[in-house]
Amino acid sequence: MNKFTYQYPVRQHFGKGCAESAIKEEMKQVGKNVLLAYGGGSLKRTGLYETLMEWLHECGKNVVDFGGILPNPTYDKVQEGAQLVRKYGIDFILAVGGGSVIDCCKIVSAQARLDEDIWDMQYTRHQFPTEFVPMGAVVTASGTGAEQNNGAVITHTAKKLKQPLVGAYHSFAILDSDLTKTLPMKQVVSGAFDTLSHCMETYMGRPHGDNLSDEINEAVMRNVIKNLRALIANPDDDFARGELMWDSALAENSLLKLGKQTDFQCHMLEHAVGAYTDCNHGQGLAVIHPTFYRHLLSEGKEKLARMAERVWNVKGDTTDQTAALGIDALESFIREIGLPTRWSEMGITDETVLCAAADTCLLMPGCCKQFTRDELFEVLKEKL
Ligand code: NAP
Ligand code: FE
Repeated sequence: MNKFTYQYPVRQHFGKGCAESAIKEEMKQVGKNVLLAYGGGSLKRTGLYETLMEWLHECGKNVVDFGGILPNPTYDKVQEGAQLVRKYGIDFILAVGGGSVIDCCKIVSAQARLDEDIWDMQYTRHQFPTEFVPMGAVVTASGTGAEQNNGAVITHTAKKLKQPLVGAYHSFAILDSDLTKTLPMKQVVSGAFDTLSHCMETYMGRPHGDNLSDEINEAVMRNVIKNLRALIANPDDDFARGELMWDSALAENSLLKLGKQTDFQCHMLEHAVGAYTDCNHGQGLAVIHPTFYRHLLSEGKEKLARMAERVWNVKGDTTDQTAALGIDALESFIREIGLPTRWSEMGITDETVLCAAADTCLLMPGCCKQFTRDELFEVLKEKL
């Protein structure tokens, strides 16, 4: 493995039913003025909003509401949150939701402490924030692992870009599987595929030889596949729900990335499509992955073959055959769990949109191979 220094700042509270005691314990340690950040409506529909307000008031907090953070959070919403933090002298941000709410708050936390525009700071001046408003995450939709890292994916509507920004780490993550029970199964599935995709993109990064990070990664991938099947078969399977939640955390808490250079080209491509279509993240990844890997067959065959054998349990007569069988197994799994394999299944039928996405996609140094814009367009177009 490559050299690394590892320090991990996020306290984890994991387990069915842990939310009440963990939130109250954490709230004792933070200031009085709390910004309660949440999504477009599920928090109120499920009754969790009322419960949280009770707990926060019991802990003596003044609560300021910051609702309406929609999937694929926007830069405008970040600015709205930052203004609330400044206006009400917020001491602590409590993000309650899935990746969208949790990501939005990472950048609110940084923008509130900055005079300059954080997008320009990072993409024009190539500088990163160093001061943050403290915050913590209560996960109600697992899959992204966004509560585990300091990267956030934000849509800049005016620029037609959905791209990563560096923000703050949450000081804690509440991983109570009971809070995800109201999540529609469609979103459970797309979240779990996002986890699998984080694992695969990390796995395809260098170095390619035997290493501990990849061996742990293989175990996480097998665990996602097994427990997603179990949860689809029985949505009351709390054990499977909890396992998926922890898989999601492990895929993004740096552990699988230690000593590795990761390859997130599929993610960058999905984000670019998201900027034009506001599509669901996990669904977009499901369409992209098999085709992307077929385009990587010659350069990435050794690693793809290893994944085929160790994760999908398939083997051909040659390395090329094994690698191809693994991609077929991935695509069959995508169909089995009800995710789309073509853009048209997601209502995306316009080739010019896909062309624009390939043209604006943030290019990443690919670990097996760096795709050109033409190749990225080919990958997208093949699944129209
Ligand atoms: P999400 O966009 O946060 O939420 C999806 C939907 O689930 C929303 O409509 C939300 O409704 C609903 N929901 C959430 N919790 C619920 C619950 N307990 N019951 C019922 N409905 C619930 O989904 P996500 O997949 O977690 O996040 C996607 C975003 O994360 C994308 O922008 C993606 O790019 C980003 N991402 C970030 C990272 C990272 O490491 N930073 C990694 C991968 C993806 P309401 O809005 O009504 O609450
Ligand atoms: Fe993701």
